[in-house]
Amino acid sequence: MVQHHPSDDTLVEYAAGNIKCHLALCISVHLQYCSQCRTQIQKLSTLGGALLDTLPNESLDDAIFERILERVDLVHPEPEVERVGNPLHSWLPDGLVDLTWRKQWFKLYEYVLEVPKQGRWRLALQKIAAGGIAPVHGHYGREITVVLQGGFSDEMGVYDVGDFIIRDGTHNHRPRALENEDCICLTYMEAPVRLTGPVGRWLERFRDMFLNQEDLASQST
Ligand SMILES: [Zn+2]
Repeated sequence: MVQHHPSDDTLVEYAAGNIKCHLALCISVHLQYCSQCRTQIQKLSTLGGALLDTLPNESLDDAIFERILERVDLVHPEPEVERVGNPLHSWLPDGLVDLTWRKQWFKLYEYVLEVPKQGRWRLALQKIAAGGIAPVHGHYGREITVVLQGGFSDEMGVYDVGDFIIRDGTHNHRPRALENEDCICLTYMEAPVRLTGPVGRWLERFRDMFLNQEDLASQST
């Protein structure tokens, strides 16, 4: 059962079309699993931009958000909830079967969906084999995760299929797959992860050296 959702503010921005494309993709995937958020989105879409334009120009706190939804309920008390088409179809026409995974860590694998020619973001599937543990890490930017298969836990909770999780630079965590099934997640990273355990810090030093060499090479060309 889905228990972790985008924030109300994020859903409002998504409904208004103000979300960057890869975060919007992650929300769209979450909506595949979450009737609660689909209903919220449909209410907000029904309301449209006209009501938002009439609200004060301030951040949406819980009270304002509730006011929006109450007014939508007056217009459409029973919104029709529909599932949208699979937003990952263009990357994964056959779903999650027969993917060629690249090993990253002992039981951690990656399947890259999209990386930029310039920039450091990354859209990928991450797989932790059943019972496996990813290295403890933090983030240089936000990391958005949607669970597609199985489940995992970390220091902050337990996550099941469909759950939507955002971590930022203030979080260090060590995801562990549940014991009975491989865990596969859609992950959008705004910047590379930061390995923070003893072994991770040692590896980071080599990565920094490698990146510095790349910088020197690019400066000399
Ligand atoms: Zn939801």
